[in-house]
Amino acid sequence: MAGLKWENVMTSNERGGLGIGSLVSFNLALILKWKCRFFQGPRLLWVQLIKAFYGESGGFFRGCCPVPGESPWARVLDVGVKLHSSGVIPEDTWKRCVGNGRETRFWDDCWVGHRPLRMVFPRLGILDANQNCLVADRWVDGAWRWQWQRSILGGRTFASLQDLMLLLGDVRLTDCRDGWKWEIASDGVFSVAETRRWIDDHILPEGVISTRWCKVVPRKMNIFIWKLRLNILPTRFNLSGRGLDIPSIMCPLCGSEPETVDHLFWRCGVARDIWVAMFRWLQLPPGNFDHPSEVFDWIDDSRGSSNRRLVIEAVVCSAFWMIWRFRNDVVHESRKMRKEMLVDFIKDFAFVWISNRCKKVPNNWNLWFFCPLNAL
Ligand SMILES: [Zn+2]
Repeated sequence: MAGLKWENVMTSNERGGLGIGSLVSFNLALILKWKCRFFQGPRLLWVQLIKAFYGESGGFFRGCCPVPGESPWARVLDVGVKLHSSGVIPEDTWKRCVGNGRETRFWDDCWVGHRPLRMVFPRLGILDANQNCLVADRWVDGAWRWQWQRSILGGRTFASLQDLMLLLGDVRLTDCRDGWKWEIASDGVFSVAETRRWIDDHILPEGVISTRWCKVVPRKMNIFIWKLRLNILPTRFNLSGRGLDIPSIMCPLCGSEPETVDHLFWRCGVARDIWVAMFRWLQLPPGNFDHPSEVFDWIDDSRGSSNRRLVIEAVVCSAFWMIWRFRNDVVHESRKMRKEMLVDFIKDFAFVWISNRCKKVPNNWNLWFFCPLNAL
């Protein structure tokens, strides 16, 4: 995309891009899915195999076991470590949600804090009378009950126990089954698409303005409006600014000013005539803007229902689109459109798009032709 880095194009609409998403993030999200599969299927054969090589936690928690070099699973672990250490995916994103505690091991599963409790409190883990106890085994009659191999009277072990109690402070068991939660997902369930978007939002650059996406006009028009608002349309002035040697930078429609976006879509006589006719047709007072993209702020601030704003935006998008098409006709001397017909073309195009894409707007051509906002 001329005038813009590809990373900006891939960025989500909310962050000023076209929401294409990067393949790198897609690949990372697919790799992260293996982590979820590993913990969700403890009895699967491949999971048992991984556990035999990498330990009970599969090597996901640092310090569990050394991770040997170049195996495919080592690469899966490596992706997780890099995403955590770079702050893209928080370390405690994949969490055990303890319900009744009957499927979660107290010391070896990561269910409270960022790591398994055996790694945080190794002295206490060794002292437990049942090394493989479940969370439910330690929660009796609404309180934490311990079974130590010997009494803990003081010293560092006692201090560890106090820290453990502090960590468990708000934890309460319920009657629900234990499950897993992917914290960055809206519903807690891992999804490649959502994880990909999350990674994109952290590794791709953010644009200056968020992208508008009008649902009643075609995709190509939304992309056109996106370019217009970012001032990256290939007008003569912009092309010249990018170093292209062109014969003239003057407006091809009137020849009186350089062909900037501001001039072509707003100040040029052809554009002014169209906007005057459009505002009259919509029965709205004529707008007074310094830049064409300001018309979108005006739409957002205008009164009335969301449908009304949607119709105004579709008409405005159609007007911009038609001015650009007419300008291209003139530049390439194809002369498919006549200037006098532009306003009718805008009405036609806007009606076709809105009536086919928005069920809430009545598709009555006669009403539309005389005043589209009264047709609502
Ligand atoms: Zn002009």
